[in-house]
Amino acid sequence: MPELPEVETVRRGLAPHLIGRSIESVTCYRPDLRYPLPDMDVLYGKTCRGISRRAKYLQFSFDHALLVWHLGMSGCFRVQHGNAAKLRHEHVRISLSGGECLSYIDPRRFGYAGLLPIDGWQQHPWFAALGPEPLGDSFDGEYLFSRCQGRKIAIKTLLMDASVVVGVGNIYACESLFRAGIHPARAANRISRQRLDLLVIAVREVLGEAIAAGGSTINDFAHVDGNPGYFAHNFQVYGRASKACLHCTTRIRRLVQSGRSTFYCPHCQH
Ligand SMILES: [Zn+2]
Repeated sequence: MPELPEVETVRRGLAPHLIGRSIESVTCYRPDLRYPLPDMDVLYGKTCRGISRRAKYLQFSFDHALLVWHLGMSGCFRVQHGNAAKLRHEHVRISLSGGECLSYIDPRRFGYAGLLPIDGWQQHPWFAALGPEPLGDSFDGEYLFSRCQGRKIAIKTLLMDASVVVGVGNIYACESLFRAGIHPARAANRISRQRLDLLVIAVREVLGEAIAAGGSTINDFAHVDGNPGYFAHNFQVYGRASKACLHCTTRIRRLVQSGRSTFYCPHCQH
């Protein structure tokens, strides 16, 4: 599933192909994905002014509208020549000025899109309850500490709550907690401010490194067929149950929290 670093990589890969281009036509090969597709005729002739990201949503901005796209479980975008043959699982094709087109491919069709007003999109139900961006300035130790007060739930569960902070998926929560030396099952309200400062730094580092790793695949992403944007990660704990901790050689353990696998080192994390 595309996580925040993958979505950010997609955003960076698409920007040079879309910004400043206008939309010549939109072809929807089916009426719906996860939800009905919006009527995108209003975008004809409109110029893409920018592409941003909020949580795992891509946001293509036009003068009066924001085209919002979530990649779901298996969605991806491909930029290709405008008269390329329809790809397998291609559900939407947006033809751009300059001769290229943007194709949306999604085998499982859990992705979805919407057209929102450029002013006030923040109040839309997709966005209204979201916490801050993990790489943004408002996610810091003081903020996280405030959100942990009075919360007896496991820190990993809290970290994966999008109303606390967006985009910290299961893999990145495991890796960040390992880096910060915090046991994933520790109660959120039993962690010092100082240790939460380290956790914020760890979250930013882990996500930042994943984005940097994805950046090297941007060219592949822009041109090809095949899977885009999913890059090989070097995980320190995730998926390494019973293997030696890279710091202390203790065997990595696995436990299940909120239905998700957690990996941690019982010696390094407490
Ligand atoms: Zn260890």
